[in-house]
Order: sequence, then structure tokens, then C-alpha cells
Amino acid sequence: TTKRAFNFNAGPSALPLEVLQKAQAELVDFQGTGMSVMELSHRSATFEAVHNEAIARLRKLFEIPENYEVLFLQGGASLQFTMIPMNFLQEGKKASYIQTGAWSEKAFKEAKFFGTPVEAASTKENNYKNIPAIENINIDPEAAYVHLTSNNTIFGTQWKTFPTTGDIPLIADMSSDILSKKVDVSNFSMIYAGAQKNLGPSGVTVVIARKDLLEKANTNIPTMLQYATHVKNNSLYNTPPTFGIYMLGEVLKWVEEQGGLDVIEKRNEEKAAYIYDVIDNSNGFYYGHATEDSRSLMNITFRVADEELEKKFLAEAKEAGFVGLNGHRSVGGCRASAYNSVPVEACKALADFMVKFQQDNQ
Ligand code: PMP
Repeated sequence: TTKRAFNFNAGPSALPLEVLQKAQAELVDFQGTGMSVMELSHRSATFEAVHNEAIARLRKLFEIPENYEVLFLQGGASLQFTMIPMNFLQEGKKASYIQTGAWSEKAFKEAKFFGTPVEAASTKENNYKNIPAIENINIDPEAAYVHLTSNNTIFGTQWKTFPTTGDIPLIADMSSDILSKKVDVSNFSMIYAGAQKNLGPSGVTVVIARKDLLEKANTNIPTMLQYATHVKNNSLYNTPPTFGIYMLGEVLKWVEEQGGLDVIEKRNEEKAAYIYDVIDNSNGFYYGHATEDSRSLMNITFRVADEELEKKFLAEAKEAGFVGLNGHRSVGGCRASAYNSVPVEACKALADFMVKFQQDNQ
């Protein structure tokens, strides 16, 4: 049998074994074409079907209303940090940013090149341990849009309910929790995500944007950086990352086969609970970074109280076959990323390992 690691990488991260096996099986001859998906023309009917099916699957699974465009772009979520203000923020105008971590900060920084980002709330002083309370968010009434990060990959916090922003467009970076649960897409004017956590391999960036927002975009910017270009061309203005889009489609099919987002959400709750329960029942041997009400189901950040033991923990975990448990360099400690494709068994095995490590070392 194939050896598969307990993969807790933060992204790129685990993909479903079934999807990898299917990709392997059709790698050298895709649908009788005598070539792989990677070797097809992006203008061929065969590839176009792959592309359009992926869009249709995402629309159905995420219940995306008709008045939204679905785009597959490149440049990662990081380029969206730039494209959003470039398209929607004019010089001298403000945009409200809710600061919940390092990725929010990066988005804020890019907006300064085009207009005036202002902080609607920030939990930086609390070392980004929590998501701000809705009543502590001050949205500038003149803001061109509000930006937030739905799941903070590095700090391990996640929004449980989102603010409503009325007439002001709400834009969310959902890179690290898209499709991990149901979301009311209509509460947002735009949602974007790099694919490499819950959706597939890196190289594709999903953008879901409401048409009335897109209509307000600046047209006096370079062609490739205009959303309009990609809308007009069904994301086929230039050569797209064809293999990544194919894999995205296969991952979406897998999510469907699992039973859709309700099943995925329950499974994600169960997975995270195994690990959080060990932390909570450890009498302080382990402690979480995030406050309980803001805990992420995707990225579980924690410390071993004793620093020397923490090093030992990470070394022994690695030895035992757990991959990717080192926290982000800016936070330290440990982080288990339990995205959609990380199996329940991997989380159970990690929880058992943590219990055993505590027993042996306290
Ligand atoms: N936003 C969030 C929440 C992320 O986790 C990441 C990547 N880890 C990014 C943005 C940046 O994504 P990319 O590398 O695709 O530009």
C-alpha cells in the first residue's frame, strides 16, 4: 500500500488520496486524448469543459448566486491584495480594513499604494489571539469597501459570524477556510482564496465577485490587472494554470462525493475537537494561542508550556511521521493545519500522540 504522511502542512497542504489517484490514473491519457491535461490546448473543447465544470461545481457547492462572477486567476491571494485596491480604491478615498493577522496586514499595506486604508478594528495588541467583537468594529461610512481575513492561518483564529456592512461592499480573504463550511455568499461583495489549502494545488486563485462591485472597477489600469478582462474572457484571457484548474475540479467533485459542505463542516469540527480537547484537558501542559471563542477549525495553534519540551515534542512528532507541525516563524510553537483533505484518522493520531507525549514527559 501507498505510504501517506500525516500531513499537517499549512499550504500547500494535503490533497485527498482519491483525487491524487484519479489524477495519476488519467495522467498520460486524459479522456482518450492521448495526452495529459497539461498537454492540452487551453482553447480545446476538452479543456474548456474541465474549466467550465469546475466553475459550475464551485457555484453549486458554495451556493453562489447568479449575480456573482467566478474567476480563476493567478498570482495567489497576494496579488488580490493589490488588485482589490487597484480596481476599487481611488486616490484620496478610504477603505476599511479589519486587522486580524499577518495576512490582513499585508492586504492593508498594498492598499496604501492606491488610496487610504483605515483600520476598522485590530487585535494586534492582543498578539492576534482573537477576532474582534462585532460591536468593536468601526467601519468608515465613506469606505469604498471593508476587507477582512476569514481565517488567520498563522495565528489560528477564525470568524464565527461575519459583520454585515449594508451598502458598503464586504470583501473577504478566505484563503485558508473557503469550502470548510457553508457561508452566506450574499453577505459578501467579493470572496477570494488561493487554492493551496482547501481547493487544490497552488497556482490557481479563486475570485467570487458580485457584478455590481465589478461594474465599479477602475478601467484605467493594466489589462491583466483588471477584473473586467478576466470576466470578459471567462478567465481565459491568457494561458491559465490548466493542471491546477483540473485538480481544483477534482477536489470539488470529491467534496460533493463526501456529501457536501454540511458533512465537511461536521468532520472539520470533529477533527479540530480531538486536538483542542487534548490541549484543554492537559492541565496547562499544552496551551492554545487563540482565545476559545476565536479558535480556528483549520489551523490549530498551540504551545508546549515548557520550551525545552516543546522542542522535544516537535522532534518526536516528526520522528513519528507527523509533518508540518512547526508554527509559523513569526509565532513559533506548534500548528496543526487540518484542512478539508486531512483525514479524521490523522487528527486522532495526533491527539493520541499528544496525550502519550504528555504522559511520558510530565
Ligand atoms: N491569505 C491567507 C489567509 C493565507 O493563508 C495566505 C497564504 N498562506 C495568503 C493570503 C497568501 O496567499 P498566496 O501565497 O496564495 O499569495
